[in-house]
Amino acid sequence: MPKPKVAIISLTCCEGCQLSILDLGEKILDIADKLDLRNFRLASGTKSFPGPYDIAIVEGCPITKDNFKRLKEIRKQSKVLIALGSCAHLGGVAEIKNYKGNKEEQIKYVYKNIEGINNPDITPISDVVKVDGFIPGCPINNEEFYRIVMEYAEGKTPYIAQRPVCYECQLRENKCLLQEGKPCFGPVTLGGCEAICPANGFICEACRGPLKGTSIEKLQEIMKGKMDKKDLMKIAEIYGVKKEFEEN
Ligand code: SF4
Ligand code: SF4
Ligand code: SF4
Repeated sequence: MPKPKVAIISLTCCEGCQLSILDLGEKILDIADKLDLRNFRLASGTKSFPGPYDIAIVEGCPITKDNFKRLKEIRKQSKVLIALGSCAHLGGVAEIKNYKGNKEEQIKYVYKNIEGINNPDITPISDVVKVDGFIPGCPINNEEFYRIVMEYAEGKTPYIAQRPVCYECQLRENKCLLQEGKPCFGPVTLGGCEAICPANGFICEACRGPLKGTSIEKLQEIMKGKMDKKDLMKIAEIYGVKKEFEEN
């Protein structure tokens, strides 16, 4: 059976999720062995092959006109399209600009010459094209990437266990930051990152997006009202999950 043709493509972003893939150690050799990697800029430089692809994995946000065009072309050329990381999945850190007032004023403040600069609102790629699945996080958990991509390659429909970051955090026996009065989003955030932030003394800021069925009000309740909704929503802006919490 021929190997599935896979393309890993970046729109506008820091490419940190691609970097996490390269950090997979020996499993990257397994990926190279089992998949026909047609496009993976960080691993192969400018060498890339045209579609069609069985699986396209898209990292980053559509910001430039070229990004939008490329994203739509990739969709047409791919059987399965996966959003990689919180930029593609949720809007990610770039979405902060949507919440900073007049974006035309902001861009003039940053750039002397704004001629030809596209300045759209930041949106998840699912607002532009149909997305079949996602690998959450900023950056992604590379072990989760490996599992999900291999399952797609085997024709399966991967599943991400629907449990909060707190689940893994408690398994790791971390000190609970929420119980210390800190606004940790662990109870309302989709787990799967091994609670890496609380394990290192930082609150969870929900980069993997809301756990279905939870709400900011629930977090406020757990915090016994120590922080108001507006301030909690400010934290949700960091990884572009404010809109998703409002809609959850
Ligand atoms: S999700 Fe985070 S690490 Fe991945 S590309 Fe976006 S900003 Fe970079
Ligand atoms: S530190 Fe955060 S993630 Fe960990 S158990 Fe407490 S609330 Fe949950
Ligand atoms: S603990 Fe929260 S912010 Fe940190 S990686 Fe996990 S989901 Fe993202």
